[in-house]
Amino acid sequence: MARTTLTVPGSEILPGDILKRYPSAAVAEAADVDPRYPNSRTLIMADGTRYLCSPVQEYVVTRDVDDEPATAHATTPVLCLGPVETPADVKALRALAYSVAYELGRPAVWATNTDHTVTDYAAVYLTAASLLDAATLVLLGEALVADMDVHEPLTADEVVTCDCGLVHRHTRPLVDAQGVVWCANCLGDDACSWCGEELDTEAAEIVESGNGFYPVHAACLAGVRRDASTSRLHAAV
Ligand SMILES: [Zn+2]
Ligand SMILES: [Zn+2]
Repeated sequence: MARTTLTVPGSEILPGDILKRYPSAAVAEAADVDPRYPNSRTLIMADGTRYLCSPVQEYVVTRDVDDEPATAHATTPVLCLGPVETPADVKALRALAYSVAYELGRPAVWATNTDHTVTDYAAVYLTAASLLDAATLVLLGEALVADMDVHEPLTADEVVTCDCGLVHRHTRPLVDAQGVVWCANCLGDDACSWCGEELDTEAAEIVESGNGFYPVHAACLAGVRRDASTSRLHAAV
């Protein structure tokens, strides 16, 4: 099980949730909304206190979730595409992959040839809005046909910073209905490529292996280095 942070209406708060506004005790009982009092719902907390919430207002809670889908999702790499004709092109593409791996907390692979199956990847990120002269243009075509998310580069005024301080220069974080920014780290939607557990961006290291960057726990670096072939990193992908 992993803990994840969610924004849910008061009507969907469940026993076991910890409210951001009331972090000292988990919800022990959450009765159904009483039709006689449709504007409030009483939560009984583990410490015996009662908390009145609105069924329609949104609350930030942390909740235990099965980590299988989440981590499987977060260890699926994204693919970075761009022109690779010149050393400067390749440098820009490699730099994008590094930044995307850091911002998303998931592996990012960059393609210098068409030897990739785009559907093995969660999304595509481009170094330039137009890749018409790129050797890997065929991969972009395959991604579009497969209806994958294809992300064009952000402009300077699209740069977004999460409350935790993570600056998104190349990726778009989730912005909820209240305008609150949620990076992958704050959502718990990131994972160490070595052990598969949730990452803490501040304590994460980005390991380069082949044409990819893999975020791992600093504590897992020793394991990565012990296995010089980093075969397990590839296995995790
Ligand atoms: Zn954040
Ligand atoms: Zn780890």
